[in-house]
Parts: sequence; C-alpha cells; structure tokens
Amino acid sequence: MLGTLAKWLRFLGLDTEFIGPVSDKELKVIALSEARVILTRDKELSNNKDVEAVYVESGDIDDQLVQVLRALNLEVEEPMSRCSTCNGLIEEIGREEAKGNVPEDVLADRDMFWRCKECGKHYWQGSHWGGILERIEKIKSQVS
Ligand SMILES: [Zn+2]
Repeated sequence: MLGTLAKWLRFLGLDTEFIGPVSDKELKVIALSEARVILTRDKELSNNKDVEAVYVESGDIDDQLVQVLRALNLEVEEPMSRCSTCNGLIEEIGREEAKGNVPEDVLADRDMFWRCKECGKHYWQGSHWGGILERIEKIKSQVS
C-alpha cells in the first residue's frame, strides 16, 4: 500500500525497507531487529506499544513525505543516493563500466553514471531526473 512512499523515501536518500505482506507480529520483529520505524496506514498497528510506528494519514505522496519527515525529524542530506528498487547504496561509475549496461544513446549523451551496489541497477540523469529533484526541493521547503 505504501510502495510509492518507500520509493520516494529512497529517492530522498533515506534507508527504507519495503516489507511485503507479513503478519503484524513478523513486521514488529523485523522492525526491532533492524532498529526501524514502521510506516503504516493501519491504525491498529500504528498504535502498538512494542515498536515506534507512524500512521500515514494522507493518500497523497507529497503529503505523506512531508508528514514522515516531520514526524521522525528526518533531514534530507543525500538525495539520489539509494536505489529506488532495492534500497542499496548507489555509487558513481565511469563510462567504461557503464558501457554495455546503459543504452547506446545514453552512453554517448551523458557524462555521469551510477550503479546500485546491491542489485546492479544502472542510473543516469534521464528525463525524470529534473522532475524528481524539483519535487524533492518542494518537499524540503514544506518540511522546514
Ligand atoms: Zn538496487
């Protein structure tokens, strides 16, 4: 239910695991063992006494991000430092390493490339990049 929120928290550079359907009990065990806060739209789960949890109120992604950043007092320090797919850290790679892993026209057209250390997904500043950064700035200005 909060998959888009998880993806955007990763765009913001925040360590975010997305857990598929598990019982509340299992979820709490994971949160405790990894020292994580649960973000949920389940009111009952958010009111549990074992683990810190935030009840995500809005269905709107911008509102969700603002709420979570405020509630947990989080700073956006390194946007675009995590893989939106797997939460792994992203590292910059050279043109040689990108060769064969990004489309030819992208390779010819861009100077900077990144790769996820965990899943190997490649990133470059594509057409969505500007829009994502703009949105991040908007979120940050709403939080402060
Ligand atoms: Zn990844």
